[in-house]
Amino acid sequence: MENSQYIMNTYSRFPVVLDHGQGARVWDGQGKAYLDFVAGIAVNSLGHNHPRLVSAIAAQAAKMIHVSNLYYTQPQMDLAERLVKLSGLGKAFFCNSGAEAIEGSLKLSRKYAVKQGSGRFEVVAMENSFHGRTFGALTATGQLKCHKGYAPLLPGFKHIPFNDIAALRAAVDHKTCAVLVEPVQGEGGVRPADKAFLQAARELCDQNGCLLIFDEVQCGAGRTGTFFAFEQFGVRPDVAALAKGLAGGVPIGCVLATEEAASAFQPGDHASTFGGNPLATAAANAVVEVITGGLLENVTANGAYLTQGLKALRAKHPVIREVRGLGFLQGIELDTPVAEVIDRCIGKGLLLVNAGTSVIRFVPPLIVGRAEIDEALAILDEAL
Ligand SMILES: *Cc1c(COP(=O)(O)O)cnc(C)c1O
Repeated sequence: MENSQYIMNTYSRFPVVLDHGQGARVWDGQGKAYLDFVAGIAVNSLGHNHPRLVSAIAAQAAKMIHVSNLYYTQPQMDLAERLVKLSGLGKAFFCNSGAEAIEGSLKLSRKYAVKQGSGRFEVVAMENSFHGRTFGALTATGQLKCHKGYAPLLPGFKHIPFNDIAALRAAVDHKTCAVLVEPVQGEGGVRPADKAFLQAARELCDQNGCLLIFDEVQCGAGRTGTFFAFEQFGVRPDVAALAKGLAGGVPIGCVLATEEAASAFQPGDHASTFGGNPLATAAANAVVEVITGGLLENVTANGAYLTQGLKALRAKHPVIREVRGLGFLQGIELDTPVAEVIDRCIGKGLLLVNAGTSVIRFVPPLIVGRAEIDEALAILDEAL
């Protein structure tokens, strides 16, 4: 770590230098193993070194890495078709990160309002949400700690309490171009939306003629046990943003939209140089194939197993106030700051990440089985 001082100080990092991984495990340079229940923050959906992903990347790298979006490539068309069919939406736009997928979604909603001639421009977003660090996504993010020092932010954003139907009704009006919601808030503390709230949002957007955007950057791509989290709420958005787990660690972002909404973008309206390049989309095609080819069943079954285990720990350790989440996006809220517990777990060979100051998040690779969950729970039990 002697040359770590050259890295800009934007993260409070753990003093660990990771070297390689296999399945749900990573190793540091000294050969110490860690069970990885962070998965690169909900990114390494197939774990580390998955043969299908590695061979898809290697084959595509040897063929062609990048050509720009001035041309079509087969991997990009294939991925668009897969995601459109899985979502029931109409078209896909590819970019390189979650924040970019949110930017694209927000820009599409404003362009759509212009196309309608409605004069709408306002975005209604949720308190405690997280949508990324670029200015549009940052403004949409409902956490003051992220906004501090960046004023002025973008005009035209309102925040309401998450899951508050009355506040949503009061906020959505003739100025609203989009309602932006995470079906399960991730960074904000692992909080699932209420089904009734998402249904009310759908109805309000339909009545009012604005777009419903779901940020599935963290909860999408199989993490909750269905490919899209929205499937579990029986509500389909007009626009869905994907990123984190979609290509198993290769940077990618995606905006999915209905034909109607997507028609607001015409050539020149929005773009990305790297977005959807053949390397990233070949990786995502392999990841989506594996996730939809049997892995969702593992997430559902073993997600429930993880919930049970965490609830058993709550019965034993009253410091755990609540267990919540879906599939392999779960959190425990503690009565005490979580940093020390996470540090102890890392010392004992288990990687965990917080979501705010009082929640420990569990976002393991979607491939983890019961033995690994048992091992993680045993380490957490000792640490608590
Ligand atoms: C991580 C995250 C983002 C931002 O993604 P980046 O790839 O870091 O830009 C946006 N929305 C949600 C819900 C996220 O969890």
